[in-house]
Amino acid sequence: MKIVIVGGGFAGINLAKELTNVPDIQVTLIDKNNYNFFPPLIYQVATAYLEPSSISYPFRKFFAGKKNLQFRLGEVLSVNQAENKVILSNGELFYDRLIFASGAETSYFGMENVQKNAIPMKTLTDAIEMRNRLLQNMEKAVLTKNIRERRKLLTVVVAGGGPTGVEVSGMLAEMRNGILRKEYPELETAASNLYLVDGGNALLSPMSEASQKDTYEALTKMGVVVKLNTRVTDFKDDLVYFADGATIATKNLIWAAGVSAKQFEGISAESYGRGRRMATDGYNRVNGTQNIYAIGDTAIMTTDANFPDGHPQVAQVAIQQGKNLAKNFLFMLKNKPLNTFVYNDKGSMAIIGKNKAVVDIPKPKMHFKGIFAWMVWLFIHLISLITYRNRFKTFYNWMVAYFAKDQSYRMIIRPNKQEIR
Ligand SMILES: Cc1cc2nc3c(=O)[nH]c(=O)nc-3n(C[C@H](O)[C@H](O)[C@H](O)COP(=O)(O)OP(=O)(O)OC[C@H]3O[C@@H](n4cnc5c(N)ncnc54)[C@H](O)[C@@H]3O)c2cc1C
Repeated sequence: MKIVIVGGGFAGINLAKELTNVPDIQVTLIDKNNYNFFPPLIYQVATAYLEPSSISYPFRKFFAGKKNLQFRLGEVLSVNQAENKVILSNGELFYDRLIFASGAETSYFGMENVQKNAIPMKTLTDAIEMRNRLLQNMEKAVLTKNIRERRKLLTVVVAGGGPTGVEVSGMLAEMRNGILRKEYPELETAASNLYLVDGGNALLSPMSEASQKDTYEALTKMGVVVKLNTRVTDFKDDLVYFADGATIATKNLIWAAGVSAKQFEGISAESYGRGRRMATDGYNRVNGTQNIYAIGDTAIMTTDANFPDGHPQVAQVAIQQGKNLAKNFLFMLKNKPLNTFVYNDKGSMAIIGKNKAVVDIPKPKMHFKGIFAWMVWLFIHLISLITYRNRFKTFYNWMVAYFAKDQSYRMIIRPNKQEIR
């Protein structure tokens, strides 16, 4: 059986891993990057806590020595279902089974200026972009004598009060309270504001009320101005506009407010559900297709009794769907009945700052916060990294940052040899 997987994130890589060395299965994994990366920690790259290689790993190294797994660099553009063929940016491939594990992409809800001017937080490239831009703006703030301009350069607005928005705000608050005072003496008396805005009425909306309240209080204490029921409508001429008519003057809008899946030519409109996700049956087969499957963020399945509106777009769903689909391919080879997918929710968590985190566990229903929650967060994220090398590097960096009270990757790297502005 020739299996082609589009995307090597949590879903795709777990599916491929489970099919390693199965003699009757040949797997080709296509990705537009030549590496797998760990999205839950990209904000730590963006804030200079970790360097990119701590949370990424090349696919070819991962597949080395695994005879039935192959990697192909390329971007999938469309599908020809009649010929069982995917069309890539750099060629085409035939399949017996095609699996979309292509995740989601940043959604700007149609706001062109936000797309053009804001800093997205979805990929490793975005994280490096953000690190460069914030550090560059701090250097510009040192140089300007204009107080309003300086304030705009140092003010940051984070849009989106989910885990990413909360975590990046907490990290920036710690950076401002520690590094800015220490390393930028020129800016000691400069005003800088850090805002976290969300269109809903709570931070971390899928988590418990206790977690939402603890997070709000902790961030406020750290100096983050949290504005709820505040929807961004535009970002132009250094002003963020809100639905209620208010504005904030800044050069830094970090966009962590939404994602939507990508649609592919050759998959009919009826096969898509809410959020442009591919609608699947309980075995992750895309509705209206014979041999095409979707797993992870790009899929929406409404057959799981506990999740009638579809599963949350989180790592555990992607991992579990990848593993379940692998099992089903093995069952197919043996003509055995297939397993329907049932999500095992292990809980959710968010880190707010040093020694501060919130954790919710569904069974038994439990909420905890503070240093214990923080240690649980660190441990879970560490063991979830793809290789021992990544775990060791991340642990080492965290320890240095914790004891030295410092992040050390504050280099502005200009891959395009940009001018010093
Ligand atoms: C900043 C951030 C923080 C997050 N924090 C958490 C968290 O703390 N806990 C949690 O559970 N979840 C978190 N999530 C969500 C979690 O990362 C996703 O649910 C998970 O990554 C989904 O896995 P996936 O395999 O479906 O997609 P992804 O991991 O997004 O992988 C998709 C892959 O497909 C590739 N791809 C996409 N399109 C194409 C194409 N056309 N051709 C070829 N390749 C393609 C991409 O390069 C990528 O490698 C976070 C997400 C982000 C962005």
